[in-house]
Amino acid sequence: MRTVIPYGKQDISEEDIAAVVKTLRSDFLTQGPKIKEFEEAFARYVGAQYAVAVANGTAALHLNALALGVKPGDKVITTPITFAASANCVRYCGGEVVFADIDATTYLLDINNVRELLEASPRGTYKGIIPVDFAGRAVDLEAFRKLANEYGLWIIEDSCHSPGGYFMDSDGKQQHCGNGNLADLAIFSFHPVKHIACGEGGMITTNDEKLYEKLLQLRTHGIVKDENKFINSLAFANGLEDSQISNLKSQIYPGWYMEMQDLGYNYRLTDFQAALGLSQLKRADAGLVRRKEIAKRYQEAFQGMPFIKGQSGFVKGHAYHLYVLEVDNRLGLYNHLRTNNIFAQIHYIPVHLMPYYRQFGWKEGDMPIAEEYYQNCISMPMYPTLTNLEQDFVIKNIYSFYNV
Ligand SMILES: *Cc1c(COP(=O)(O)O)cnc(C)c1O
Repeated sequence: MRTVIPYGKQDISEEDIAAVVKTLRSDFLTQGPKIKEFEEAFARYVGAQYAVAVANGTAALHLNALALGVKPGDKVITTPITFAASANCVRYCGGEVVFADIDATTYLLDINNVRELLEASPRGTYKGIIPVDFAGRAVDLEAFRKLANEYGLWIIEDSCHSPGGYFMDSDGKQQHCGNGNLADLAIFSFHPVKHIACGEGGMITTNDEKLYEKLLQLRTHGIVKDENKFINSLAFANGLEDSQISNLKSQIYPGWYMEMQDLGYNYRLTDFQAALGLSQLKRADAGLVRRKEIAKRYQEAFQGMPFIKGQSGFVKGHAYHLYVLEVDNRLGLYNHLRTNNIFAQIHYIPVHLMPYYRQFGWKEGDMPIAEEYYQNCISMPMYPTLTNLEQDFVIKNIYSFYNV
């Protein structure tokens, strides 16, 4: 087998291409009807009330931090085993990132470590928590919500890995990632390696109307177009002195008028990207089914193998963006797979040990579980179009490396 097998890959159908082309031929390349359509369909998919489409997942995180009012000095807790953007959004607003270690079996932010941090500081020290549904495994947000409420914290759920994922709450109900029931805000990414591809793209979901409106405003430069919310006078808006206001035939704001009320950004998604996302969303469930099949086959192949120290396993509600193995001689295995054109990947280099974060004093030994995990982890090829034959080739190469 000579074709490269990556760890993740987009799946673009003829229908996807047709949807994009159709939008390219329409009147709107951006700020048109496809955005709203994609937002509504995505909100329905995850079970949230509101969705805001944005340029990428990182922009989604930045807008969340802004909407929640993160300020210089504010402390926010997150996991070191995530993509750096989960932490960086706090820094964009001048806040301070405090890492808490992961759980050794779920690989998710360990709530006990978060609780310890909260208990060790005066109330009000921390402002929020950013748990990540790492690899596609849903964080138990019911437990996190309870803890957050005790300390008056907000929660941003980084659900980039987990569209379609869920956990079972204490009532036995499925709580879908990003459904807005427990986290204040959730974010998704539509980078090609994620479940749904837009090229670049992101989505914020929430059930909080106020946050939703704030996000819409911040996505487009902080501009407001609703005349009920205007701050400047009617005379000014019409280009008149206040004394001339009686000259106006009708007391309305002119058609061109808008106000920039906040310092926002241009974090919009384009309509042709939204068209691609909408078309991809139709196949999201089928993709999830296939990801679960692949996970089950990995689980069966590696269960009880002497070289395995841990693995994602087969977990209900897991969305399997990644399938992680923890192995002996990870470097050797990585290189062996590469020589056989299998491009496994490492997720993640612990964020607290990135040179940027070391400047704040983070060092080796601060997050022992995450650091040990990093020494052993390797993400297997995992994407819906991976065939059984290809997966068997991957498994066979791993067996042969460990002489089993
Ligand atoms: C991909 C990803 C992001 C950032 O999304 P982009 O669209 O690449 O900006 C943030 N958090 C996690 C966990 C991710 O996997």
